[in-house]
Formats: sequence, C-alpha cells, structure tokens
Amino acid sequence: MELTMHFLFNLSLLIVLLFFCLLGVEKSNSHRVYKITAVLYFVVALIICNIFSYRLNDEMVLDLRIVPFLIGSLYMGLSPLLGLVLVSIRGLHGIDLGFFAGLIFYGLFSFLIWRISPWFYKRTSKQRILYSVSTTIVVSLMILIGIEILNVPIQTFDVWFAYMVVPPLGVAMISCSIEIINKNLLIRNHLVKSKKLEVVEQMGAAISHEIRNPLTSAIGFVQLMEDDSLEKETRAQYLAILKEELESAERVIQDYLTFSKPELESLEKLNVNEELSNVLKLLYPLANRNSVEFTSNFSAVGLIEGNRQKFLQCFINVMKNAIESMPSGGVLSIKTESTTQNITIIIQDTGMGMTKEQVSRLGEPYYTTKGGGGTGLGMMVVFSIVRAMKGTVHVNSDIGTGSVFEFSFKLCKPETQESYDESTVFLGNR
Ligand code: ADP
Ligand code: MG
Repeated sequence: MELTMHFLFNLSLLIVLLFFCLLGVEKSNSHRVYKITAVLYFVVALIICNIFSYRLNDEMVLDLRIVPFLIGSLYMGLSPLLGLVLVSIRGLHGIDLGFFAGLIFYGLFSFLIWRISPWFYKRTSKQRILYSVSTTIVVSLMILIGIEILNVPIQTFDVWFAYMVVPPLGVAMISCSIEIINKNLLIRNHLVKSKKLEVVEQMGAAISHEIRNPLTSAIGFVQLMEDDSLEKETRAQYLAILKEELESAERVIQDYLTFSKPELESLEKLNVNEELSNVLKLLYPLANRNSVEFTSNFSAVGLIEGNRQKFLQCFINVMKNAIESMPSGGVLSIKTESTTQNITIIIQDTGMGMTKEQVSRLGEPYYTTKGGGGTGLGMMVVFSIVRAMKGTVHVNSDIGTGSVFEFSFKLCKPETQESYDESTVFLGNR
C-alpha cells in the first residue's frame, strides 16, 4: 500500500494548507482577499502535489494534481491558470514528446472545464459536491485504464485503491469546506444587510419622535409670537425656548450624522480648556434649570488634534447626561490635567450613578434608561468620536454617589502651549 500511503500524506498536506488559508480568509472578511487566497491555494497545492509525487518508473509519475485542479477549475473557473501551471511544471522536466502531449491534453481539458464551470456553479450545494466527486472518480478511472493499457508493472490493488479512494475523498473534503465557507459568507452578508435595514427603521422612528417633538413645540411658540400685543419680555422668553427646542432637534440630527459617518473630515488644533469652556456656556441654561453647579479646574497645558464640531458634540453629550442624572441639583466638576504626552479630561457628577451592568452597556445603540425622553445615541456618538480622535474613555460609577468619566487624548507637539486656570466658572441657582 505504498502509493496509498503516499497519496494520503499528500492529501493531508493539502488539508493543512487549506486550514491555514481558511484562517486567513476568516480574519479578513473581504471578497478580494478571499479570491487571491483561493488562487494562491490552488497554485501552491499543485506545486505540493508535484513535489510529493510518486515515481512509478522512469516515464511515469503519479500524483494528486487532479484534486486541486478539478476543484479550482470547477469552483473558481481557474482552469486556464491551473492548466498553465501544470504544463509549466511538466516543462521543468524537459520539453519532449510527453510535454507536448501534456500541453494538448491540459489545453483541451482546461477549456472543457472552463466552459462547464458557470453551469456547475448554478447547481445546488449538494449537486456541486456530487458532480465534483463523480468527475474525480471518472478521471481516476481514466488514469487507471491508461496505466493498464500502457501495461506498466504495478501493484494493481494498491494503485487502484489509491486512485479510487484518495482523490474522491480529497475532492469531497475540500468541496465540502468550500460549500461551508460560501454558506457562512452568505449568512454574514445577509446579517449585515438586515442589521442595516433595522438601523434605518429605528432611525426613521427615532427621527419622527425626537425631531417632531421639538419642532411641534417650536411651531407652537412661533404661533404665540404672531400676537402683536405680546410684551417684549414674554417675546424674549418665547424666543429663548424656541431657540432651545431648535437646538435640541439639531443635536439629534447631529448625533445621527455622526452615527452614520464617525470619521473626522477636517482636523484642527484644539485648545481643550477653551473648547470645554464653550461647552459649559452652551449647557448653562440646562444646568440652571436642574439647579446644577459647575466647578472647573483647567490646569492642563497643550493642544490636541481633532474636529471642533465633533469635540463639542462629544462633551455636550457627556455633560448633558451628567446634568440629567442630577434632576434635583448637584455639582458637575470638569477637570483637565496633562502630562508631557497626554491630556486627561475628568467629568464628574453627583447624580444618580449607574450599576455595573448599565456602565457596560454605555455606547450600545438605542440604550437609554430615560424612556421616551432619551434617544440612547449620545454615548454611542461619544465613543465613536473618541475612537476617531484616537483617545480613550474610562467610566466609574456608583449608584447614589455619581459618575466619573475620564477621557485621555494625545497632545500635539509641545511648541504652542498655553496655560489656563479657572475655578468655579458658573454657578446655577440651587
Ligand atoms: P440618552 O441620554 O438619550 O438616554 P445616552 O447614550 O446619552 O442616551 O446615555 C445612555 C444611558 O446611559 C442613559 O440613559 C443613562 O442611563 C446612562 N448614563 C449616561 N451618563 C450617565 C451619568 N453621568 N449618570 C448616570 N447615568 C448615565
Ligand atoms: Mg444622552
């Protein structure tokens, strides 16, 4: 059973190679990588079959080339390339009569399989496995008949067993693996598509809810303001509310835009202390309404690289959550600290805090504990902006005590540094 053992060893090499290729394809998830890996696999497999071929006599060499050749040709339509590789390998042994016979044989065989390949691919998965195994059996039989006709002295049982068992077994194993990968890829693509559809559906529902509310209330105030007899003070009050409602609608739209496109389009140098002061100014009316006091200690020095709009959006979302976690007042403290390389922004509230489970779910799309009052997008946007700015976030929270959000970003070159020191910027009326 020398030839059978030889073929089985060769087949195990092909399977091990296939295993490594599958690992590579699994990690990359790209169609191009899948195609390139497949081409490489079949070419390398043919070379392996040649290296580990079995020399029967001076003229005759037996090997498993039929396995990679058939599978690569039927599944990937690679027969012209694989035929060329086989002819080239034969050419290395000498350009003689055998070479030209091989050229004609592989030329015709490659052309035939190349024409069959599109038809083959339209069959069902089971049919494809069945057809490839049957074709291998037919080809093996043809080789065996050829050996018998040439009357080469062989150990008949060994050669017949090797050809009738190992190549069909190899083809069955490899084609089953390809079918499984194809099925997985299809399921994965289907999942991605349905996930996208789900997001669009949720987005539609959230937009109609989150944007319609402030807009309806804004329309109401515009109608009220149409009254000419309105006092100047009341009109100013209405205008302030109108502005807030429109800003809230704008924030929801901004969150959705960042959700669908988190990359930073334009980069600029940001003075963290200045930008955070701007966020505090923007949130002052909300803090005032919740009787929240701001304290700040901006001792950091340095600039970071990022997009101003997104940076503001990120910290508005974090501080808005902090203020909302203190409905009956509290203290929101904002600190910045810097080392030679990094800047840390610490945002601490004395609000209701979160459980461990809530902390771990932060950033999950549509995760909110505010019922109809929240979108569950704020923290997701925060995380995606911090990721785009190559920063990190750490959250610590205790129920009843409050939460601490610690952000860290890399500082730009140290030439343009600026110091800033402020404490207790705004005081809300408690
Ligand atoms: P939303 O504010 O619309 O609910 P977010 O993504 O901004 O959505 O926040 C998700 C959830 O995380 C909130 O509903 C809240 O339960 C929790 N959360 C976030 N920040 C804080 C905080 N500072 N204190 C307590 N809970 C918080
Ligand atoms: Mg929020």
